[in-house]
Amino acid sequence: MDAAWHIEVHGIVQGVGFRPFVHRLATAIGIRGQVRNAGGHVVISATGPPASLEAFVSGLRTRPPGAARVRDVRVTPGVPEQQHGPGFEIVESDVTLGARAEIPPDLATCADCLRELFDPANRRYRYPFINCTACGPRATIIDSLPYDRARTSMRGFEMCPACAAEYHDPSDRRFHAEPIACASCGPRLRWQAMTGETALRAASDAIAAGAVVAVKGLAGFHLVCDAINDEAVSRVREIKARAGKPLAVMVRDTTTAGALADLSETDRALLTASSAPIVLAPRRHGVLSPGVCHGMPDIGLFLPYTPLHHLLLDALRRPLVVTSANHADSPMPTIEISGLAVDGVLTHDRPIVARYDDSVIRSFGRDSITIRRGRGLAPALLRLPAAAPPLVAVGAQLKSTFTLADGERAVLGPHLGDLSDAETLEAYGEALDHLSHLHGIEPAHAAHDLHPGYLSSRLARRWPSRIAVQHHHAHIAAVAAEHRLQPPFLGVAYDGLGLGDDGTFWGGELLLASYRGYQRLGRFSRAPMPGGEAAVRRPARMALGYLLGGELSTGPAPGHLPGQEVIARMIAQGVNCPSASSAGRLFDAAAALLDLCEVNGFEGEAATRLEQAAGGFRGVEPLAWRLERLDGLWVYDGVATLRHLLEARADREPVGRIAAAFHATVAAVTVLLCERAAAEHDVTQVCLSGGVFQNRLLATDVLARLSAAGFEPYLGERVPVNDAGISYGQAAVAAARLSHG
Ligand SMILES: [Zn+2]
Ligand SMILES: [Zn+2]
Repeated sequence: MDAAWHIEVHGIVQGVGFRPFVHRLATAIGIRGQVRNAGGHVVISATGPPASLEAFVSGLRTRPPGAARVRDVRVTPGVPEQQHGPGFEIVESDVTLGARAEIPPDLATCADCLRELFDPANRRYRYPFINCTACGPRATIIDSLPYDRARTSMRGFEMCPACAAEYHDPSDRRFHAEPIACASCGPRLRWQAMTGETALRAASDAIAAGAVVAVKGLAGFHLVCDAINDEAVSRVREIKARAGKPLAVMVRDTTTAGALADLSETDRALLTASSAPIVLAPRRHGVLSPGVCHGMPDIGLFLPYTPLHHLLLDALRRPLVVTSANHADSPMPTIEISGLAVDGVLTHDRPIVARYDDSVIRSFGRDSITIRRGRGLAPALLRLPAAAPPLVAVGAQLKSTFTLADGERAVLGPHLGDLSDAETLEAYGEALDHLSHLHGIEPAHAAHDLHPGYLSSRLARRWPSRIAVQHHHAHIAAVAAEHRLQPPFLGVAYDGLGLGDDGTFWGGELLLASYRGYQRLGRFSRAPMPGGEAAVRRPARMALGYLLGGELSTGPAPGHLPGQEVIARMIAQGVNCPSASSAGRLFDAAAALLDLCEVNGFEGEAATRLEQAAGGFRGVEPLAWRLERLDGLWVYDGVATLRHLLEARADREPVGRIAAAFHATVAAVTVLLCERAAAEHDVTQVCLSGGVFQNRLLATDVLARLSAAGFEPYLGERVPVNDAGISYGQAAVAAARLSHG
């Protein structure tokens, strides 16, 4: 006898070809009924023999399309049979059930579409906007949910009869592919007065001749040029006003990528993922213009993720610089920017609804950390450890993001950048409005950093109910929440600076934490930062700060640092010398004393150069250190390490070897701090967070040493360990505090 079941499938099930998949599965098994999108999930009424229904549900769980993520299949058996026809059908979306939405991120061009793109017999041959239910734009074109063409920026393109036939045919792989298009009905390329193939040819000829071209992509404009052409590369740097940071390079395939960088298995898997992130990997010496990496150890590589990228790389057959067409740290522009001195603009007429910068990932071993969570990754849902009332967590200042939360679901918005930039601030507001509207979350509370001067903290004043969260507690809570840890856990938070609860700057912290609160157990020793911000920019100032004004001990100044006399006077008189217990600043000081970095051209540059220098040395013994008990805290005296570093330098030890020893020291001290804490508190879980842990050498060493010492270490994976992960941590803390009253 036939039974009727009501089935709900939750997860990423819209915009990924899920309904056609359900249709095919049901038809193959002989199930009658219907499937529809409802809000963010899929609802199925299914009628058939119970054994077939079991097989059907099992198929839903185990065989979903590649880009789908099935989190939960809820089955209600024995419902009255719905009125439907003899077969299985896909019905229109139910717009009334809007609230529990999940937005699929954009997906890189799939293998099937790629084959068609280069098949002269296919009707979409060389069509730059080819896509299907398994690939194409999603988050960047969606206005509202449920995900249907009418609610995307494709609504202005009326399907031609051929596309409409595919769109309505359940057996077609473009069945309900919302951005479906072809050359006769879809978006078109434009270059000056030219369109289509002519425009593409003209633009690629210009790039081949050394031009810098702005190219409209999925989520904003990129600057594109030949990565081998020195002059073009240096013009890109001029346009972006970016001095040091490496520029991302797009290559045709993993073979080319492997020729430019030393790729691990993990890197290769990341490169070919449907999220197509920029993967940071150790650079090989080779053909690229030196201006691409500016002497930095890693290169950022990614593969083409739109049909247009594939066509450009096919025409040009060389690595291309593909970097967001913004100025310094501003967000990626979505409209043509008249102020940029580019040689031409290759654009198209599909509007961009939301801007997402490209995502950036760095691997070590089998693990990876997300450095920038943007296009392809955001805004996939994360979960919180406690159910929250609707809230917004506004993040930090640099690398700003926000997190919207409601219940256990959290939406970590795209990486936006430095809020002190007016354009970033505007983009932040736009993205917040867009995602709150999309997800139907109207925040009643705002979580923010303790620092009242952060623009994000000021933004939070719009909400009457506010929760202040300490910076490093947020870092640790983010890692714990991502891994769904039960408290208590130890937290090691190493970063540049964050305001502590005692009014001083923190940044080398050992915390014993839950989601609701924390106790500070240890820290790095304090040092004055001569000139405040200026000391962040000039690592030599920090070196003098430690050696002349260290909290627990001092050392001999090396005598050759720029401006030494003036800075010594500032320190002696305590003029404009805020004090900080920061791991990031200690790395800066070490880099300065080894003459590795005069100016931090971008955040973390000195530490990156120190890591690069240490690259070739393995298994080096740590330098000296001291651990002291001070006011109930374990305090690591970094000056003892810097003194030893100077001695080694005077003994003419290789700089790289000393740099490696410095890394080993910080790793060994970290484990020692955790052991001291574990001796007093029964805790083995350790969350590692803060921008300093983007250092591959340090992170790998600390993870290995902690595991060997019997701890369970965790590092942020999908949530950045840098300040872009702060908002998610703030949301986790706020949810815990609000849910316990
Ligand atoms: Zn496809
Ligand atoms: Zn068409």
